[in-house]
Amino acid sequence: MTASSAASTALLDVASLAVTFPAGDGAVRAVDGVSFTVAAGETVCLVGESGCGKSLTALSLLRLVPPPGSIAPGSRIQFEEQDLLTLDDRALRAVRGRRLAMIFQEPMTALNPVLTIGDQVAEVVRVHTTLSRREAWERAVDMLTQVGIADAATRAKQYPHQLSGGMRQRVMIAIALVMSPRLVVADEPTTALDVTIQAQILDLLRTMQQRLGMALLLITHDLGVVAEMADRVLVMYAGRIVEEASVTDLFASPSHPYTEGLLAAVPRLGDERERLQTIPGMVPAPGSLAGGCAFRDRCPHAWDLCAQQEPPLHQVSAAHRARCHLVQEPERRRPATERAVPDARA
Ligand code: SF4
Repeated sequence: MTASSAASTALLDVASLAVTFPAGDGAVRAVDGVSFTVAAGETVCLVGESGCGKSLTALSLLRLVPPPGSIAPGSRIQFEEQDLLTLDDRALRAVRGRRLAMIFQEPMTALNPVLTIGDQVAEVVRVHTTLSRREAWERAVDMLTQVGIADAATRAKQYPHQLSGGMRQRVMIAIALVMSPRLVVADEPTTALDVTIQAQILDLLRTMQQRLGMALLLITHDLGVVAEMADRVLVMYAGRIVEEASVTDLFASPSHPYTEGLLAAVPRLGDERERLQTIPGMVPAPGSLAGGCAFRDRCPHAWDLCAQQEPPLHQVSAAHRARCHLVQEPERRRPATERAVPDARA
């Protein structure tokens, strides 16, 4: 499929998305020129370290960027052929929760502490349908059952603080899925949970996705989650997408040194290294970049060109792109034994 035909059949088509924050007399770009698509039924993972702009990208899709941040002019977010950035508030509310829903990282802060969980699920149904209070409640109980809440009719009358963390996240999923949306955006949905519950929640998301045929945009810093869930992966760094590939290509042949660094930091069974490799240095703060490749201070392969020119997204293969000069000059790649220590490590 060509890039343009992929875009034309996409459920979600994001183009040149930028999010700016005021700084001094100007503005800094925390998300800068992000473009991607999500097809119906597809799972796309957006991956990167904290502070790389992935959560802001997710919030932009629902127009929930916290002030003083704002989506910059020239950005485009097309969802089911509607431009979300030009909708008025009423039209946007009709999309949010019904066709496009979000699952947040921390259910305790996203749930209303003074409403029962049944009321919170039923409320979504009431906003988007003409069902009676009683019918909406029944739909809520049914959805709570579907997301694995045992004895949902009784649990529905409880408040968030009466539930475990894993159960609260199941409630968040019930709220997101009760209207069978076409796309769910899940921002680190398992980060606050212990490992066993994380696996259960990911399993639940996958099952529900198949049952409802929805697409999933999953934001995560965890490549283990990516390996489990993704069809396609977008790697973000310093507000930009630096690599885009199928999950198979990304794990088999990562092309951006940042992706390689993330993969080297993943523990593997039978791995006898005493310490996992971590990427030296930190994600640069928005506005602190002075041209060139944003990863150069942390990159073991950087050379003069990397400081002079920002690389475009180069095509590695048909569905694989990387924002790195090495794609065109692979002979510059240094073997592990000859890698220079970037200044940022000093
Ligand atoms: Fe490293 Fe240069 Fe590629 Fe940036 S463009 S990731 S500095 S090799």
